[in-house]
Amino acid sequence: MNIVSSRSAVTRALARPPGRRRTKIVCTLGPASADAQVLMRMIRAGMDVARLNFSHGSHDDHSKMLKTLRESAKAVGRPVGVLQDLCGPKIRVGEVPNGAVTLERGQKVRFYCRTPEDKGALPAGEHILPVQYDDLAKDVAVGDRLLFDDGRLEARVEKKGADWVDAVFPKGGVLKSRKGLNLPGVKVSAPSVTEKDLADLEWGLANGVDFVALSFVRTARDLDAVRARVAKHKDPPLLVAKIEKPEAVAALDGIVGAVDGLMVARGDLGVEMDFEKVPLVQKQIIRLANLRDVPVITATQMLESMTENERPTRAEASDVANAILDGTDAVMLSGETAVGKYPVQAVAAMATIAHETEEHLLAGGAYASPSRELAASSLHDALALAAERIARSLEVKAVVLGTISGQTARYIASSRPRVPVMALSAHPRAVGRMALYWGIAPYASKPWKDTASFLKLAEHAVQGYELAGRGDTIVVVVGREHSEEFSGRIHVHRIGGK
Ligand code: PEP
Repeated sequence: MNIVSSRSAVTRALARPPGRRRTKIVCTLGPASADAQVLMRMIRAGMDVARLNFSHGSHDDHSKMLKTLRESAKAVGRPVGVLQDLCGPKIRVGEVPNGAVTLERGQKVRFYCRTPEDKGALPAGEHILPVQYDDLAKDVAVGDRLLFDDGRLEARVEKKGADWVDAVFPKGGVLKSRKGLNLPGVKVSAPSVTEKDLADLEWGLANGVDFVALSFVRTARDLDAVRARVAKHKDPPLLVAKIEKPEAVAALDGIVGAVDGLMVARGDLGVEMDFEKVPLVQKQIIRLANLRDVPVITATQMLESMTENERPTRAEASDVANAILDGTDAVMLSGETAVGKYPVQAVAAMATIAHETEEHLLAGGAYASPSRELAASSLHDALALAAERIARSLEVKAVVLGTISGQTARYIASSRPRVPVMALSAHPRAVGRMALYWGIAPYASKPWKDTASFLKLAEHAVQGYELAGRGDTIVVVVGREHSEEFSGRIHVHRIGGK
């Protein structure tokens, strides 16, 4: 292990050719990353998937951001997947006077929902503030906890009327407009997919996003409305369930079977349940996702201090490394890249931590998942299993796939192959999807006519990424050449050979 390096994390991340790092990096975009120059540096440093957070911004804002992102990815020459994150029934405080109110210790606040006329009698000298959730008074009971601003501020329900709730803040604090409100232990009656989510989804479908993430999923049924809508689309995005409620943890087995990806959304999860439970729940979610071949993203506060500082804390470096040791497919940056002072450095820090951790795992022979010894569930799965086996026994330099949908790449990723994998597709949606898959270097290719022309493309791509050179052996997997065809071929191929 190289213990000391005189180069910065950004220099180290930029020096590495693409396709070497296995763990994928999802970056939330925002004002800090709206500029094309910043985005291009983030892509070079290791951003694989961009997250558009629909809790903030108008459709016009997101359209502008997406255009800049696509232009930047094209200029750098690396594919970047796009994940649209629908905000779901996130409960928020409304506008408070002057944007923020200071609450004294023991202060009472009346929160009103619905119309201001139904505020009830105002307690003398107390604040009366709006909450953007009509059924707050219906859902909570006296004694329930209200957690504001990711749990930074806590109140307890003292009294309630038809449309208002009186709560007392034992420790006081500052409450700002539009901060989130979590109701731990309360059965929230709001639907999981709101009218706003459905309107935002239309934007996502019209703009060709690769993934749609759903917030506050409670059961597999919560995905039905979005699944039904995307199924009508000719090239539907994949669905990711954000696991951020205890109900979802309890229903995980059903949810994992109904989605294409999971996110360990530790921000809300750590407020909805006691924070000391989050590390073990993270391991539980990642383990199940790995067993069921579903990609999983570990999210929130991974390098939080980099919002303000150029270097991560030791605890944050350990957090990223531990998520990788747990088996996560991807790690995510939120405020660090959306509003932080050091978006490029945050991506580079993540990329270097990931690389270091993976090198250790590869050297120790930890990869090649035991779950993949099971029988194949489909043609894609069988091809993936066989390719991984051949690559392992022959010690080839790389595996190169040709794929229409990205399915074979998903199964190969589940095998956690030791050798680098490049996946070529002429279909932009498949390329975007594969950006999230562990260990897969996606590559936007020209269409190919037959296996011979694919072998040429594979040779060119793998040499361009410096994964193999003339005389090296690679395993080439060509799936179906037409979507209706049931066939696939595996070649053990020597580059430049006859
Ligand atoms: C989270 O809660 O961890 C999360 C990813 O969701 P959001 O950022 O939308 O709160």
